[in-house]
Amino acid sequence: MAAMAQKADRGRPGEHGHAARGGTPRPRVGVVKLASCDGCQLTILDLEDHLLELSEHFEIVDFPEASSARSNGPYDVLFVEGSVSTPDHLRRIGELRKQARVLVTIGACATSGGIQALRNWADHDAYRAAVYPTPEYVESLARSTPISEHVSVDFELRGCPISPEQLIELLTALVTGRRPQLRDEAVCMECKRRGIVCVMSAQGIACLGQVTQTGCGAICPRMGRGCYGCFGPREQANAAGLARWFQASGERSAEEVGQLFAGFTAYAEPFRSAITDLGGTRGARRSGGGGFIAAGGTGAGRASYLAGTRRMEGIDDDGR
Ligand code: SF4
Ligand code: SF4
Ligand code: SF4
Repeated sequence: MAAMAQKADRGRPGEHGHAARGGTPRPRVGVVKLASCDGCQLTILDLEDHLLELSEHFEIVDFPEASSARSNGPYDVLFVEGSVSTPDHLRRIGELRKQARVLVTIGACATSGGIQALRNWADHDAYRAAVYPTPEYVESLARSTPISEHVSVDFELRGCPISPEQLIELLTALVTGRRPQLRDEAVCMECKRRGIVCVMSAQGIACLGQVTQTGCGAICPRMGRGCYGCFGPREQANAAGLARWFQASGERSAEEVGQLFAGFTAYAEPFRSAITDLGGTRGARRSGGGGFIAAGGTGAGRASYLAGTRRMEGIDDDGR
């Protein structure tokens, strides 16, 4: 599915708005989660001053990470973080879809199944028994799946975590009733625009930037490490071709090449097929792949790390 593809016309923003300021109903917004680390929700909170500005335009009716206010809908805009990972998630996502005029999935977990989807190549029951002392109490599905596999999704915001700039662009577009301007192009394009020296050409560091959708401002190459694909594949990405090139270069085994793709968006096609063709995820990320675990951590920790990096680097609201 396109990263940002608007589906059915479900009416105007604000049509469910109950509160009014200056006589104009504000769209009712909810932020909820399934299987996730909350890091994408932290990105929303990290909008800081923008968040206050946005609250002038939106009525936040449900956001457990930030407020004790609760609502069961209806929502004009519902942001959903996290993958479908348990039977309860399956039930909830169907209910949430019915209550949402516009449903936006946020982050790699929600849009591709997340890092937890690495279990999709494994024996679920054996893993559960190995991890939990009483596995019979743990209700989980054999596969962690993206929300779009179960219900229709109006927009996707990619990344682990999402980009604050893309979030603001989406919210602004929703308020003004225009189409969000979110580019589907490779991270390499960002490198070229910013004059970043290619870590793959200059240092031989493996980088998935050629097949990964941009939106992060090429933050990993900018920090001297390879892209590990957290924004997921861009449209028509030739992951199989890149995998063949990595192997043909003679420096990596099939298993090592598979590990490069087996990250936060492993279950998104065509990364999924590339991993399967290379033998699954055995030993995935054992070595830290492009170095992201040591450099950036995962999930919510990574969200904080990236926010700090952006401040240190002086990256502005346009990601420049
Ligand atoms: S920060 Fe990453 S791991 Fe955490 S919810 Fe977002 S996509 Fe999932
Ligand atoms: S560093 Fe990666 S993303 Fe940047 S130009 Fe090189 S291959 Fe592309
Ligand atoms: S891995 Fe780094 S460079 Fe690649 S999309 Fe994610 S943040 Fe951007």
